[in-house]
Amino acid sequence: MSQYDLVVIGTGPGGYVCAIKAAQLGLKTAVVEKRATLGGTCLNIGCIPSKALLHASEMFEEAGHGFEKLGIKVSKPKLDLPAMMEHKTGVVDANVNGVSFLMKKNKIDVHTGTGKILEKGKVEVTDADGKATVLETKNIVIATGSDVMPLPGVEIDEKQVVSSTGALELDKVPGKLVVVGGGVIGLELGSVWNRLGSEVTVVEFMDKILGPMDGDVSKNFQRMLKKQGMEFKLSSKVTGVEKKGKGLAVTVEPAKGGDAQVIEADIVLVAIGRRPYTEGLGLDKAGVTLDERGRVKIDTHYKTNVDGIYAIGDVVAGPMLAHKAEDEGVALAEILAGQAGHVNYDVIPGVVYTQPEVASVGKTEEELKAAGVEYKTGKFAFSANGRARAMNKTDGFAKVLADAKTDRVLGVHIVGFGAGEMIHEAAVLMEFGGSSEDLARTCHAHPTMSEAVKEAALGAFAKSIHS
Ligand SMILES: Cc1cc2nc3c(=O)[nH]c(=O)nc-3n(C[C@H](O)[C@H](O)[C@H](O)COP(=O)(O)OP(=O)(O)OC[C@H]3O[C@@H](n4cnc5c(N)ncnc54)[C@H](O)[C@@H]3O)c2cc1C
Repeated sequence: MSQYDLVVIGTGPGGYVCAIKAAQLGLKTAVVEKRATLGGTCLNIGCIPSKALLHASEMFEEAGHGFEKLGIKVSKPKLDLPAMMEHKTGVVDANVNGVSFLMKKNKIDVHTGTGKILEKGKVEVTDADGKATVLETKNIVIATGSDVMPLPGVEIDEKQVVSSTGALELDKVPGKLVVVGGGVIGLELGSVWNRLGSEVTVVEFMDKILGPMDGDVSKNFQRMLKKQGMEFKLSSKVTGVEKKGKGLAVTVEPAKGGDAQVIEADIVLVAIGRRPYTEGLGLDKAGVTLDERGRVKIDTHYKTNVDGIYAIGDVVAGPMLAHKAEDEGVALAEILAGQAGHVNYDVIPGVVYTQPEVASVGKTEEELKAAGVEYKTGKFAFSANGRARAMNKTDGFAKVLADAKTDRVLGVHIVGFGAGEMIHEAAVLMEFGGSSEDLARTCHAHPTMSEAVKEAALGAFAKSIHS
């Protein structure tokens, strides 16, 4: 007799959500977590602490530069970095404790220690004292997430050369910060320290920031970040970081090769991506296959090549996003309970929580062109939106891409204040196969930033009214 129906290894958004859904559906469930607290990368060292610092640094910037334009005179704000970090720690604690509460509420057993798959149906948990326990289970879910991608030749010491984890813990504002990688994590954390007073230079291998995001969005967004004081070296690569006195000498070369340049830094943040984490899981012995990029290979029902062993989240293919991991967790639990779990990978929003925010769902213009899809575009600038003007948040635009023949919305891209909230009306519309006419004819409250999304849809379908 198995002790459990389901043992989930890893309690990030993929693992803990899968466990809760499985328990709700009546499966006897346990989780295994090697970290002292639950919630994974997202709650401990990712989404949540970064958003706490993004918000706090935005308020600092607003008090320093935004208030005066609204007729509010305050003295120059002073940064209390330890208190800001305390805010961040408090937010993390509240969230990870929340997950512990949910485990108890749903009667899910929590086993603290490193999980290793001995064979189909058996997970060994080794705690910090080296004591091993074997759990027997009908099904195993691998939800071990991802880890920082190292930069060849550059050693991360989490003091001067940091990953995102160290960048969330700095004890003073660096004079000069070099961010290696112009992706979401690099730009979010770069903008935190930029707002708190660092001179930030972003070195990016590609000729654009934000990797696969819409080219129009990334070009305009880079201009906005530049206006905020961030510097960019595109089509460039960091080939070395050396200690020089108290600081660092960062060697930067053109991506295609050529003369090197050395720039000085106090702190270097390596943010070139993340890689799936499967170390110590015993996958070799259990016979679980990985793909060419080290991700656990699964079928459309999250099953590995071994019966009874499944995988979800950052450790499998797809965007490394918390909500993608969560939705996979729910779908898998439903499948294991005999229901029809499903994730629509065409409608997974992506948000960059900078100021302004960037949010995107569906196809980019580049993707549509490459696929030979005929499309029409509607675009509306926030500078023509009444609410944006009222709030002094006029940077950015909303863009709607719709099929030229059917009018079905294929992609929506927004740069602007609150873009990360606004994107969801597009996501719901797209889930229901809606058209730009559907969006344009939906009554939107006035005055709201969301009216710009409606106007962009109107632009794709007919003609915007207010531009
Ligand atoms: C700085 C930063 C900011 C981010 N911001 C966002 C954001 O705003 N929005 C967003 O959607 N995504 C964000 N992400 C990405 C997000 O954190 C991940 O996509 C998400 O955490 C993946 O969830 P997961 O459940 O697959 O894995 P993880 O959250 O990585 O959790 C995996 C867990 O498994 C545990 N584990 C690993 N191996 C074992 C083992 N053998 N035994 C026991 N336990 C094990 C780990 O300790 C970890 O707790 C951010 C990431 C970073 C680093």
